[in-house]
Amino acid sequence: MKWRDWVERHGIGGVHIHYYALCKRKLWLYDKGITLENEHDRVLEGKVVHDKSYPYLEQKEILIDNAFKIDAIDGEYVREVKISSKMTEADRLQMLFYLYQLDLRGIRKKGLISYTKERRTEEIELTEQNKKRVRQVIAEVMKVLDMPAPPAVKRVSYCTKCAYYGFCYAMERDEE
Ligand code: SF4
Repeated sequence: MKWRDWVERHGIGGVHIHYYALCKRKLWLYDKGITLENEHDRVLEGKVVHDKSYPYLEQKEILIDNAFKIDAIDGEYVREVKISSKMTEADRLQMLFYLYQLDLRGIRKKGLISYTKERRTEEIELTEQNKKRVRQVIAEVMKVLDMPAPPAVKRVSYCTKCAYYGFCYAMERDEE
């Protein structure tokens, strides 16, 4: 019960886990409500893909215990759709987080991530080792959220596509 309580008390959702894998600074900024996401084309594109997915499924955008939201449930699978497989590790972690959260509630599912650009689907299973990994990630996410200020800018390949790019690199541009 400890892990479920921690996640709910800190309001940790799938987006936190995804951002954790991409950039700790992005995770911190998002959690503190500094959101520039709506202005970003890539995010809007993602929203359109989500809205059009799984037309045959009635259960979409399911909110579990008011704590986290999953795209869809399709039989024994939780399904997520992503535009491309560029963030595979973050996508896998996010899916494992959902599977783990369901498992804590006695619901055993596997995960399917569909990458629309590459037209491929990946199956994810919540093994004991993966449960350990998810718990480790949740603990690390909480450490980042407890920081009094955002982690420093650390350039990663994803930066130029990030909604916070202008925010993180504004100083750098001023110095040019
Ligand atoms: S621009 Fe780069 S450093 Fe800044 S939040 Fe995004 S990924 Fe992190």
